[in-house]
Amino acid sequence: MPRKFNIIRRKLTMEEKQERLKFYNMAKMPWDPPVDPIEFLNREIYDETIHLKCTKCTYDEIADYEMIEEITFGMEYPMLDCPECGHKKNGGTLVPIDIYESDFKK
Ligand SMILES: [Zn+2]
Repeated sequence: MPRKFNIIRRKLTMEEKQERLKFYNMAKMPWDPPVDPIEFLNREIYDETIHLKCTKCTYDEIADYEMIEEITFGMEYPMLDCPECGHKKNGGTLVPIDIYESDFKK
């Protein structure tokens, strides 16, 4: 049963939407669909991130949720090797901050 954890949802500002649109048009491949700029800029677009914390050391990070969701799909909750101490013996695991607070905080 998947556990509940928080996703940080933030509405993009007009400047950020303009940036994304500019980037999309620049990196666009011929087969990518064209984007209607008026429609795009008027749409509400959210940026979704997740706050992850290591179970063993002080490392924490805010990561793009879409990517985390993809690589941890099917898990009870996201679990990733800690980039700071995950390579060591009995190294830590990055977990959502709320899971850390309820299960791992000493
Ligand atoms: Zn760590």
